[in-house]
Amino acid sequence: MPARTYPALSYELYPPRGDDAEESLWATIRRLEDTRPDFVSVTYGAAGSNRETALTLLRRLLTETALKPLAHLTCVGSSRAELTDVVERLIGGGVRGILALRGDAPDGVDPSEGDLQHAEDLVRLIRHIEAPRTAQLAAGRVSVGVAAYATRHPDSPSEEHDIDVLLAKQQAGADFAITQVFFQPADYARLLTRARRAGVTIPIIPGVMPLTSTRRVEKLGSLAGIEVDASLLARLEGARSDAERRRTGVAATVELARAALDHGAPGLHLYTFNEHAAALDVLDALGLERPPEAGTVASL
Ligand code: FAD
Repeated sequence: MPARTYPALSYELYPPRGDDAEESLWATIRRLEDTRPDFVSVTYGAAGSNRETALTLLRRLLTETALKPLAHLTCVGSSRAELTDVVERLIGGGVRGILALRGDAPDGVDPSEGDLQHAEDLVRLIRHIEAPRTAQLAAGRVSVGVAAYATRHPDSPSEEHDIDVLLAKQQAGADFAITQVFFQPADYARLLTRARRAGVTIPIIPGVMPLTSTRRVEKLGSLAGIEVDASLLARLEGARSDAERRRTGVAATVELARAALDHGAPGLHLYTFNEHAAALDVLDALGLERPPEAGTVASL
């Protein structure tokens, strides 16, 4: 396969909740498709809360678009049999990329009731399930991604431990990683340096959210346990109009994304929140080079 000469590009979508949301999501998908991303990822409710909606969206992406879907899958609170069933449905349905995650136990779900405790165990399970099928897969195997953290994961004792965990996921068979949101380019650069020093060789794609909504920045920051950049929040809050807030947010996102690419990021994964406008504004302002045709998840 020829070496890539352009950064990878991907978008994250979540399964729609209701008919109106589905219609607007599909308008978004059509707009994003025009930018020829390498893949679009579809989130999964921890413990399988929205499993069928996620599988339906993945199926539609495969049959109605030219996009390559990456299916998120979480193992928290699930049995090995349930996970095996979902992985078989994904692979059998034509999905060739899976993002293997632990997830966070939702209210009412006891994490100790699941058979797999860590994302690393799910990577191993996926590799075990696909093993007998690799001869039938055009790409030879399913592309498996995992989560990485530019700032300490809330449950983790240290950033060093996070790197050990990332290395363990690579050793279990992960092909690439996507980071949780981060707000300081230096955090991503440090993650790359520490990961490479520890022997992590897989691509680590920065996950970047368009920083155009104060509410979203705060919500995601608190969900992910990340301290939000106070000066960015002040600038967004101080904007005199929506248009000015949007310009400010897009400029801040472009700065973050460009710094990550300058530090050697292999591409960008944009958290879209099922809206195309801010993601496309960021792409336009970045001037990210795109290939004439989309690549594949497996080529990452
Ligand atoms: P793990 O890698 O299992 O790590 C979880 C914790 O356990 C960490 O603190 C780690 O240090 C520790 N740990 C891991 N392995 C070991 C070990 N062997 N020994 C001791 N400790 C260990 N959540 C969803 O519910 N649905 C989604 O679709 C989703 N998509 C995401 C996409 C991306 C790109 C990212 C970055 C996160 C996503 N999440 C999603 C959130 C994710 O599920 C949470 O961040 C969760 O808290 C950890 O998941 P993980 O896969 O990193 O877990």
